[in-house]
Amino acid sequence: MTALTRVRNWLAAKRRFEFVATVAMVVALTAVGGALVLLPKSALHVRPVPATADAAVPSAPADPQLPELRRAMESYAPVVTRQVCAADGRLSVVLGHPYQRDDVDALAGDVGAAVAAVTQLWGTDWARDAVIAVASDPAEFAALTHDTGEVSDQIAAASVSDPFVPPAQPTGQRIVFSAAAGRRLGPEGLRETLRHELTHVAARAVTVDGSPQWVLEGFAEYSAHRGSGRTFAQLAPTLTAKARTGALPADLPADDAFVPTPGNDAELAYEQGWSANAYVAARFGEPKLVELYRHLATGPQDASALDTALHSTLGIGHTDFVARWRDWIKARASA
Ligand SMILES: [Zn+2]
Repeated sequence: MTALTRVRNWLAAKRRFEFVATVAMVVALTAVGGALVLLPKSALHVRPVPATADAAVPSAPADPQLPELRRAMESYAPVVTRQVCAADGRLSVVLGHPYQRDDVDALAGDVGAAVAAVTQLWGTDWARDAVIAVASDPAEFAALTHDTGEVSDQIAAASVSDPFVPPAQPTGQRIVFSAAAGRRLGPEGLRETLRHELTHVAARAVTVDGSPQWVLEGFAEYSAHRGSGRTFAQLAPTLTAKARTGALPADLPADDAFVPTPGNDAELAYEQGWSANAYVAARFGEPKLVELYRHLATGPQDASALDTALHSTLGIGHTDFVARWRDWIKARASA
């Protein structure tokens, strides 16, 4: 049994903003994780409406994974919870431990705007709420994300969902931050990472494992940085530096370029993925970008499938797309 985990890493801080990148991977469920997601819903109870909720707004039922998630976290340390009730009654929840109160509060403060921003881009066909956990250490992070392997200390956050078969709605979706995320990312990085992972959550129901990374991660990056006010060079410094020397991408980045291994410039792949999505949004509009995601997130794409999807969505084929994307990078990098 597997669950899809999408991970947002941080790379070495080379500049003012610590750069964060993402990689998707499929991981096996641990025994703890399996127990966490396999509990029948009938065995779970719904958390009461929070005292902070507007009494005039009927609250939606809380996510049924919460009691078991809380119990799992309590096996590591006492748990603090912030519940955020949106104007429409949808309830988001942030869980952490007392010594992470600042991160819990920051995420609780950001989640309403993050849900609104992701909904503005993606549309309303998702849960429009979030379950967010801040882990106390790598072992807890691994348990909460079902990761059976060694958890890299380079991982800032991950989103995970219960196994499901599209087009069913995914359940048990949550975003897990590492213990060091707040300290290492800073407020802006934390906010963008939340939006990145929340974008994966929103799009999960139409996302098939094995879809191109430049689509999945590039779209999440576009969503994370959307409206940040930061420049092209700030958001894609490596891509910009190379473009200024005349080195433009020959093609869209391959999936293995996104793996953050020594000698692999994953940072560049993420910037390229972001830029391909940003180019589509800038030249064709965000509705077309979302339409393209829906066409290409249907599993592995061979050359002809990619060509067909680009043609049907944007009216141009693969070769033309890459040529225009390169020109756009060149123009933005030299601006
Ligand atoms: Zn991601």
